[in-house]
Amino acid sequence: MKKIFCLIIILFVSGCLETPKGKLPSINQAEIDMEAERQKRVSYAKYIEQMSLVKSIGFKVNSSNADICNKTDFKSGLTFANENVMGLKIAKFFPTKINLGSRVSIIDIVKDSPADKAGLALGDVIIEVDDFIFPEGKNALKKISKHFKDVEEKQVKRIKVDRKGEILKFNVNQKKICNYPIIFTQDKIVNAYADGKSIIMTQGMVDYARDDNEIAMVIAHELAHNDRGHLDAKKKNTLIMGSIGFILDLMTIYYSGGTAGGDAQNTELWSKIGSQAYSVEFEKDADYGGVYYAYRAGYDISQVKNFWERIGSENPKQIAISSTHPATAERYLQIEKTVEEIKKKKIDGLALVPNEKEIKTENKKSETKKKKKFDLKKIIKVKD
Ligand SMILES: [Zn+2]
Repeated sequence: MKKIFCLIIILFVSGCLETPKGKLPSINQAEIDMEAERQKRVSYAKYIEQMSLVKSIGFKVNSSNADICNKTDFKSGLTFANENVMGLKIAKFFPTKINLGSRVSIIDIVKDSPADKAGLALGDVIIEVDDFIFPEGKNALKKISKHFKDVEEKQVKRIKVDRKGEILKFNVNQKKICNYPIIFTQDKIVNAYADGKSIIMTQGMVDYARDDNEIAMVIAHELAHNDRGHLDAKKKNTLIMGSIGFILDLMTIYYSGGTAGGDAQNTELWSKIGSQAYSVEFEKDADYGGVYYAYRAGYDISQVKNFWERIGSENPKQIAISSTHPATAERYLQIEKTVEEIKKKKIDGLALVPNEKEIKTENKKSETKKKKKFDLKKIIKVKD
């Protein structure tokens, strides 16, 4: 009897809770659809804006360290794409200023970069670069990357564009910068990665960073992984076996010189990559080099320790960060000492370059060999 009584009470209570009383304004499906579209536009506009910020900080870090980077090339500071590479279904939601269509257009220009100085503009449709006529449509970016892969970058690039029907020609006097292009993905996870060739930054990471200095810090850290030869061939191979499809997608985008667009949501994979990529010793070395690279690019490094500490403590889920971007006392102390080392060098008028161990050259040689073995392009060919 008691049980039945309880049941009645529960039913009574839940009955009361079930229907809210408010008589809400009515909305129809067309209105819902319109609002959904508007939200998409807002979201993709934000993506383009953040990509622009990341590309500009990346260009600054890459160019300010060209004199000490092992891998440099001439770059113009522009990013191009078409609707296919950004995703046919979502292309219409991107800002009209980037002019996404079947033809390849300029979707970003770093301020004060060679492309900017030459007079190129956002939304310009690229017709021709150094006598190579740009293809359009589905595999346009793949074809472009295939063409330029084997062509040596020259300092001056001749670019012919279509600007709202007007055909214009530009000579871009490119700048030699560290050759680690920034790929900006739409993943919400707070992380960044280095794959030996490029620097991959998630939207989650940019959302998380409080200012340009923090973004620069992350880019500089990843630059250090790339340029200081941290790529561990063995681990890298394991990684590829597990994620070949994804890597292929990314490679297409990377070699195109374009951006990672589309609906890339590889959050789980990202954390897997993060946790496997580098050993703790390499992480410390990336911290060390990274602080130098960020400082050399003109960024404020006084908060670097606090920044990594915040990442470690506020993202307990990011095992990737706490294990391989180690949140340890030792790590933070080392970062602090690096900042002091740089300050002292500045006062003493010494060259602001990382101190290197004597054995470095030998290590580098063997790592270069390893790197050669790990060649994604070959893997792609085999797959084809
Ligand atoms: Zn790292």
